[in-house]
Amino acid sequence: MTTAIAFRKVSRHYGQVRAVDSVDLDVAEGEFFAMLGPSGSGKTTCLRLIAGFERPTAGEIEIFGRPSSKVPPYRRPVNTVFQDYALFPHLNVRDNVAYGLMIAGVGKAERHRAAEEALAMVALPGYADRKPSELSGGQRQRVALARALVNKPKVLLLDEPLGALDLKLREQMQVELKSLQRQLGITFVFVTHDQGEALSMADRVAVFNEGRIQQVGRPQDIYDRPQTPFVADFVGSSNVLSPEIVARLTGRHAHASLRPEAVRQQPGGRDAQVVELAFLGSVTRMTLTMDGQSLTALVPKGQPVPDKGSTIQIGWDEDALHLMEARDG
Ligand code: ADP
Ligand code: MG
Repeated sequence: MTTAIAFRKVSRHYGQVRAVDSVDLDVAEGEFFAMLGPSGSGKTTCLRLIAGFERPTAGEIEIFGRPSSKVPPYRRPVNTVFQDYALFPHLNVRDNVAYGLMIAGVGKAERHRAAEEALAMVALPGYADRKPSELSGGQRQRVALARALVNKPKVLLLDEPLGALDLKLREQMQVELKSLQRQLGITFVFVTHDQGEALSMADRVAVFNEGRIQQVGRPQDIYDRPQTPFVADFVGSSNVLSPEIVARLTGRHAHASLRPEAVRQQPGGRDAQVVELAFLGSVTRMTLTMDGQSLTALVPKGQPVPDKGSTIQIGWDEDALHLMEARDG
């Protein structure tokens, strides 16, 4: 397995702000790798470091095994799709896509051919003569993608590329992007703050908080076995049980995660008060308190929903409770 991108104890500090703080990371060639985290957690800075728009304050980034510190951005085999697309409004679609090739001195016929090919890849042939203002948001997104693909980068960096799209289009583009990545075999480093997007699209996910990686793993592992309270809360919307409650339940003093869908009504179980109910369509979400601990539980459609304010008995399978290693976060 070839490593496409490696972070070796990489930091990028701005004065007191530790935007990226001692990050170690390996992204394999051909992988769809997601960087997931809340706003301000250092995701964009990581992409800018890979692209060469920023330099690490400490540590080293290797690109295909080669230390990158002396390699300028335009010599790196990577390309970026920016959050705001950054298309040139006065250029038509063809010239936007071919812009990088023009700067690189590629002749007109050749770069136009390459632009048409890239536009076909993103399912946008026939739009070459339009201006960006004559396109929908989804189409502009595709042009930005075509522009990043036109010079056949080995690694594509995508910074919240679907953030500006409405939900339906976003879901459609998620499927298309994923299949495009498979088809082209390009390594994708995909930044998002949307846990559903990261889990559904990526081969592996790195969860960021405050410039540090909390956990790296396959989506299923991140979801089923969050290693820190932060990951449990951010990724799974999991219940994070306090060490005091966990000690009472299991005898071990540690945080534990318990997924809402694992909590069920169980006669003879532990008492819990129904504090809030929210109808979400296919499920109803209950907010409960149990021994002073707040808990979320889901009632699938068709099952009886208890009254708000009532006391119910709840339980869960023993293996649904995941103890977490002691770590801050
Ligand atoms: P994300 O993309 O996850 O939202 P960023 O990488 O953009 O996060 O930012 C991480 C942190 O670094 C934030 O606190 C941000 O304000 C800070 N930061 C980013 N770029 C700069 C900069 N050029 N100067 C000062 N602070 C910055
Ligand atoms: Mg960002």
